[in-house]
Amino acid sequence: MDMKKVFERIDELQPEMVKTLGELISFPSFRQGPADGAPFGKPARECLDRALAICNGLGFETENIGGYAGTAKLGVGEPSLGILAHLDVVPAGDGWTYEPYKATVVGDRLFGRGAMDDKGPAVSVIYAMKALKDLNIPLKSAVELIVGTDEECGSSDIKYFKEHAKLPEKLFTPDASYPLINIEKGRIAARFTASAKPEKLLSLHGGKTVNAVPATASAVLADVSEGEVKSAVEKAALTVKFSIKKCPEGLEISAVGESAHASTPEHGDNALTALIKVLSMLDLGEAGERLSGLAKIFPHKETDGKSAGVASRDEISGALTLAFSILDYKSGVFSGAVDIRFPVCESVESLAKRLGKALESVGFKPEIGGVEPHCVPSDSPFIGELLSAYESVTGIKGEPMAIGGGTYVHGISGGVAFGCEVDGEDNRIHGADEFIRLSALTENAKIFAQAIVNVCG
Ligand SMILES: [Zn+2]
Repeated sequence: MDMKKVFERIDELQPEMVKTLGELISFPSFRQGPADGAPFGKPARECLDRALAICNGLGFETENIGGYAGTAKLGVGEPSLGILAHLDVVPAGDGWTYEPYKATVVGDRLFGRGAMDDKGPAVSVIYAMKALKDLNIPLKSAVELIVGTDEECGSSDIKYFKEHAKLPEKLFTPDASYPLINIEKGRIAARFTASAKPEKLLSLHGGKTVNAVPATASAVLADVSEGEVKSAVEKAALTVKFSIKKCPEGLEISAVGESAHASTPEHGDNALTALIKVLSMLDLGEAGERLSGLAKIFPHKETDGKSAGVASRDEISGALTLAFSILDYKSGVFSGAVDIRFPVCESVESLAKRLGKALESVGFKPEIGGVEPHCVPSDSPFIGELLSAYESVTGIKGEPMAIGGGTYVHGISGGVAFGCEVDGEDNRIHGADEFIRLSALTENAKIFAQAIVNVCG
């Protein structure tokens, strides 16, 4: 099929796409308290209603799935392809140059919360479908846009959708990166506790969230001389920076490293494991022994879980990663957390057993939960159909990728992530001044139109 006319039509539709995206951005659709018919708050529901009304106006058959999600269908019969986007956003946060809930176009960039994640990609899907409809491109089976409203806070919209409607057999989400993600590692979040009476270590704090490598950590010591701490810091010879200052209780020792996402801990410099390493070189009594135990199973600079007995890797998904992300000690109680991303050759059960054993061996009581990996074989015909659409529009050869993070399709059988971020450009997703390029808005629509034709044509 000659797609040239379809692509021309998409170019013509750009002003309409910008207008629609602006309307959707105007709803502050981050998760808020539930209201009548609005499980994630009124703005998310209103954004969903507006998106479905727009789709309806363009001639697509729409359905609202209980205020959790909605569908817009092109073609007749059961859809064989689903394209899953989301209309919820994260709150604006600080530091914006532009108004977050208003689309502002500057040159080729359209700024606004949700521009890239994920309202812009949803709009590209809508207008890919419209261009195919305008040109009466014949489809053997139907395609369905599915828009959810709870991606950012746990994807309970998908759970509801599965219970009340049917997901098409082939499904992709334009809520990640090009070219295509077919493997998402499994994840373990382990929490652990131990008590140890405060002697020389009075308190310790490092890390706030389980999915990040901590950039800072600090501890308060009593009855330890500044000279002892200084010589331990010198002996450890780490790239993490330490500072020591006197405080009413004794000494406060602080470490500053570099943060990273827990799925790529090798990109950070963990301030917490560095601090533990230094403290475990001092004689701090029972609490010190606990720290030495942690330093033994989670050594500073080790991110493959080897010393905790969980290291593993496979050809298709790469190596397991481990980030020691949180440790607190106060009133004689330690509580900590680690985040593990593991390859498809492993399971939650087996890793939980091994990690639990390692933690118990150094006196900690573990509590371990997790999510299994997500994998669609790279030789599946669906992946070929999508990648050929990407290649024919962009001229770039695409290979499927494995990532440590999870996307909107994690747990949806056969689902893959396809678009829309590209290497080398930071669209400031979840940050201030999030944007999408107008040229990307239309290019994404062309890729999706081609993908729809490849799958349903
Ligand atoms: Zn998203």
